[in-house]
Amino acid sequence: MEPCIFCKIANKEIPTEFLQETPEAVIFKDIKPSAPVHYLVVSKKHISSIKEVKHEDEALMGHLIHEAKDAAAKLGLSGYKLVFNVGREGGQIIDHIHLHILGGWE
Ligand code: AMP
Ligand code: ZN
Repeated sequence: MEPCIFCKIANKEIPTEFLQETPEAVIFKDIKPSAPVHYLVVSKKHISSIKEVKHEDEALMGHLIHEAKDAAAKLGLSGYKLVFNVGREGGQIIDHIHLHILGGWE
C-alpha cells in the first residue's frame, strides 16, 4: 500500500524543513496555515486517527504534547491552541495522527 503523505514527510521521502525532530515525532509548518503561526506535530508511527490510539500509544501521545509545548516556546508563542481534528466530521483530512499548533494572533 502507498504510504501516506505524513509518513513520507516523517521518513524524509518528501524533503521538509523540520522545526524539531525526535525519534518519535517531527514538527513542521502547515502548508496552508489557518493561523498566523501554524505548525504540525506529526508522529513517526502511522496511527490513522485519535480513534485508533491504543493503550501502548499513551507515552507517544504525551510526547506529542510535550514537543508542541517546546515548539511553541521556540516560536515565541505565549498563548496558543493545540488541536486534534478527529474524523471527517471533525475536520480531519489527513489520516495520520497530527497535533496542530495554532497561534500568533494579536
Ligand atoms: P487535518 O485537517 O487535521 O487533517 O489537517 C491536515 C493539515 O495538513 C492541513 O492543515 C493541511 O494544510 C496540512 N498539510 C497537508 N499537506 C501538507 C504538506 N505537504 N505539508 C505541510 N502541511 C500539509
Ligand atoms: Zn502515515
